[in-house]
Amino acid sequence: MIICNKCGSPNEDSARFCAKCRKKIQSSWSPPPETAAFRPLDSFRPSRLSGAQRREFARMVEAWVYALILLFSAVACQLKGQWWPMWVVLAVVGLAALVRLR
Ligand SMILES: [Zn+2]
Repeated sequence: MIICNKCGSPNEDSARFCAKCRKKIQSSWSPPPETAAFRPLDSFRPSRLSGAQRREFARMVEAWVYALILLFSAVACQLKGQWWPMWVVLAVVGLAALVRLR
């Protein structure tokens, strides 16, 4: 369907003149392609990260969490003067890291 750009009446695609106002229809006119100029901006959104990138990021965060747990445990053990809980934490975190970050 073509909209007459003079009177706004709808016309058949094949019509060369508007059925209402008889103005010549410029059939070459078509809606502009969906704001192609704004498309590149999409690539900057975090949601556009690929699955692999997101998994990599999640692994990095997880590794940091393990490291922080170890650090916190070490500090706690140092303060308490008891080091046996450190080995428990080390075993648990080490096992989790081995399973999760492999
Ligand atoms: Zn018209």
